[in-house]
Amino acid sequence: MSSPPTRRSPSDPLRQFERALQLLEQSGQPLPPGEPGSAAWQQALIEALVELSSRDALTGLANRRAFAVALAREIDRVARSGEPALLLALDIDHFKRVNDNLGHNAGDQVIRAVARALLDSVRPMDLVARVGGEEFAIILPNCASTFGETVAERIRRRVERMPVPLAMPPTAGTPQQTVSVTVSIGGAFAPQWVRSTPLLWQERADQQLYHAKAQGRNLVRLEPTAVSVVSNEEKRLLFDTFHSQEYE
Ligand code: GH3
Ligand code: MG
Ligand code: MG
Repeated sequence: MSSPPTRRSPSDPLRQFERALQLLEQSGQPLPPGEPGSAAWQQALIEALVELSSRDALTGLANRRAFAVALAREIDRVARSGEPALLLALDIDHFKRVNDNLGHNAGDQVIRAVARALLDSVRPMDLVARVGGEEFAIILPNCASTFGETVAERIRRRVERMPVPLAMPPTAGTPQQTVSVTVSIGGAFAPQWVRSTPLLWQERADQQLYHAKAQGRNLVRLEPTAVSVVSNEEKRLLFDTFHSQEYE
């Protein structure tokens, strides 16, 4: 007679491994190579889980969590190196209409197509993230202020000119349906040589996105890069840095 299957407690490491492998399998990620349970295998499993928790499931882009980490890292880098960096905030225009007219599944396909178009429009070193339903953000390190407008315009035009073919259930005699969308883009450069916070940087880009929407959509609006845009809060952060260095 075979013995009854043992019930493992939720904290049992074997059960945790099983769950982790299930998650990886479901997400289509490759399973860790090597001897299961070995140190190398466990390390590969951790790396795969970190990767999984940084990705947006629908598009494969960096998710909001990974974006927050990258933004904080970039703002530190800018303050230390003085290299310019641009943050773009993007939002698909009138996206509700896509969902309302063509269904949620078509909406998902549009979000995926826009994600691909954004990735194709930037350099490998740039980070493209999906930060909300139909909202994206792009961090462009080492982007000179004179190129900001060009890059953002290139992205805007690419989406505007991209018909998205919809994989819908076939209806006899009807050609494949496509849909076109546009994006509004707001952008702000990280203040160089000035300590700032990810939140302030993001608020600036969002404010420009708000202007792009208010002024008609399918537009790029970048914050002017003059020193005068440094906010009182950022000046206080700068002052605090000098102050603390003085007494170190
Ligand atoms: P605006 O030009 O002002 O941005 O108009 P909008 O219609 O795009 O504005 P809003 O932000 O109100 O609409 C976003 C819609 O996106 C609402 C929500 O139902 C939909 N949405 C959010 N996440 C997803 C998703 O993952 N898939 C799909 N298909 N739709 C989503
Ligand atoms: Mg939105
Ligand atoms: Mg929108």
